[in-house]
Parts: sequence; structure tokens; C-alpha cells
Amino acid sequence: MQIVSYKIHQFSFKLKHSYRFADAIYRDRPINIIALKDELGNVGLGEVEAFEFPNYIDETQRRCVFSITSRIMPLLGSKVYDTPFEFARFINSTNAPYMARAAVEMAIWDLFAKRNGVSVQKLMMLAVGDSSAPDSSVAVGVAIGIKGSAAEVIKAVQRELDLGYSRIKLKVNRHYSVKMLTEIRAHFPDVLMMIDCNSQFHLRDKSFFKNIDGLNFAMIEQPLGKKDFIDHAKLQAQIHTPLCLDENIFNSEDVWKVINRHSAGFINMKLARVGGISNALALSALAVNHGLQVWCGGMLETGIGRAFNLALASLGYFQFPGDISASNRYYEKDIINGEFEIDHGKITVPQGVGLGVELNEYAQEKFAEEEWIKI
Ligand SMILES: [Mg+2]
Repeated sequence: MQIVSYKIHQFSFKLKHSYRFADAIYRDRPINIIALKDELGNVGLGEVEAFEFPNYIDETQRRCVFSITSRIMPLLGSKVYDTPFEFARFINSTNAPYMARAAVEMAIWDLFAKRNGVSVQKLMMLAVGDSSAPDSSVAVGVAIGIKGSAAEVIKAVQRELDLGYSRIKLKVNRHYSVKMLTEIRAHFPDVLMMIDCNSQFHLRDKSFFKNIDGLNFAMIEQPLGKKDFIDHAKLQAQIHTPLCLDENIFNSEDVWKVINRHSAGFINMKLARVGGISNALALSALAVNHGLQVWCGGMLETGIGRAFNLALASLGYFQFPGDISASNRYYEKDIINGEFEIDHGKITVPQGVGLGVELNEYAQEKFAEEEWIKI
């Protein structure tokens, strides 16, 4: 397969509710969508999932788009690839930001699936040697942003449970006390619940984690530093609740650190953060083969990114519900036709050829304003 041209369009989504986590509040979400055209005229889609500002990891929308247009596409040129993995080797060699690589690589998977007349889900399964029948739906969870009081959190949790989500993640910052978390947990003692601290704590806060160790959280996600593996290992040795790492996992070296240092029991696998689907598959295999568990994280995606996440989360590596919520949770208006809806805690995985979703009229009109850029 050869890529002959591409286009990028920046969409801006108004969030239904401002989304607060750790040190940032988002009311709007810019997302660049990339379309690649192959030599047969097929079009594949991917999206840049970085946030506008570098508060999650140090990659941003603008930096990723700059890398795609100035680095990845010129280097790609007229190269020909026979498999997504060959393409992944190329894109990893560019040293571009992970989320820039992932955006282009998503479109490559969409194209390979279309050329082979299979769904992206099926292509992923074939890539990992799984010839079983694809799962038609996956169990999903939802993340609840930081609130001002236990009562507000309880109300928000109840709303999500009523909608049918099967796992609740609470974003937690330093204003959340042991008392507050105990009160929340007492309201929902049997709900599969976890917390995500987005690196807001230090090892010197270990008494906080020891005091919530008995609250039966499924895991504590990224309590400590964004580059740390050692303090996480020290904390993990002192509590029973498994830790989960997110912000500091980009590549196999990072997964090996978790394995060798016993820094955590779980890895939040975001295909954007690890540079694409091929890398996500390789890292998931490495983690699971060494006794870690993986689950699929979210980045407030559009329907495009959500479809990729659903396909990934349906693979056998993923046994814990991911952060993949219904289409209507974050944005008033999405860019695909149809909606992903929750049904008994699950969302259906697209089964059509390629990604299995198509741009809606609004998105197609916006895209039509952009020129195809030849490479
Ligand atoms: Mg996280």
C-alpha cells in the first residue's frame, strides 16, 4: 500500500459539561482528524488525541499536527508497506510525538482493513493470532471529573450507574480526603470502582493511600510522578490495592520497568499515548505475558477514536472495562453517523469493513473545505 495524499481538519467540540481533572479544566476540545488516501483511492481516518495544552503528557494538538505535516508525511513519501506492522516500524523511527504517530497509524489500519475487506477489529485479531469469532460488544466504564464534595460525587456516580455503566472511575485530587472517599464508597459498596490521581500525590502522602487501602477500590491509577517507577514500586509494596500506571507508559522500556520493579499491577493502555495500534498490541502482549493486566483508557475521543478503542478493548488482552463511554456523554455533536450507546454496561463494536463508522454530513462538509495534499 502506498499513501498518495492526505488532509487534516481541526474540529472544535464544545463539552457538555466542563471537564476538570488534576490541574486543568476543559470547556472546548479541539481535535484534528486526518484522512489518508491510498493509491487505490481508499480513504482511512485517524485522530490526534492530544489535549490542547500539555497537562496530561507534554504533547499538544498543535505540536502533533506540526509533526505530521512537517515530519511524518514528508518522510513517508512514496514508501510502500505490505502490513500495518511494517508501517509502524517506519513511524516509530520518525521520533515524532506519540499521539502524532498514532493519528497517522490509525488511518493506516483503517486503510489496511478496507483493502482486505475486514473490520479494524478483525484485523487487530488477525494481527495477534486470534482466529475466534469477534466479540460484538465490550464492557465499558466511565470517568467522573473532580467535584467539590462527596454529595456531588455521589450524585454523579448514581447518574452514571442509572445509565448502565459497569465500572466507575473517580478522578481524585489532593482536596479529596479519606473521609470523603469513605463516604462515597459507603454509598456504593458493591460497585466496581477505582480512582485516578493523575500524578497529584507524592510518596510522602503514603498514609493517604494506606488509609484508603481498605475501601476495596479495584485500583489506584497514577498516584505519583509522571516519570516515576521507583516510588510507585515503594508505594505498591505497602498497600494491597493494585496501582495502575498511565502517564508514564509510552513504550516497551516503560512496560519492562513496571515488570522488573513491580511498580503496578495494571497498565492503562491508550493507543494514542503509545504511538498507535501496533505498539498498543505489542505492549499489551508484553504486559499480559508478565502478569500485568491492561485496560483501554480514553482521551475524550470523537466517534473515530472511540471506534478504534472499542476494537482494541474487545481483544483478549483486555479483561477490565475501559474508559469508553457513549457518544453523547461529552459532546453535543459528534462527527460520525449513528451513536455508540450503552446497553447493560456494554457498547457494540463496529463490525463494518474498515473502522465501521463514517463521517456525518457536517464533518464531510468541513473536510471538503480542505485540499488533498500530495506527498
Ligand atoms: Mg489516567
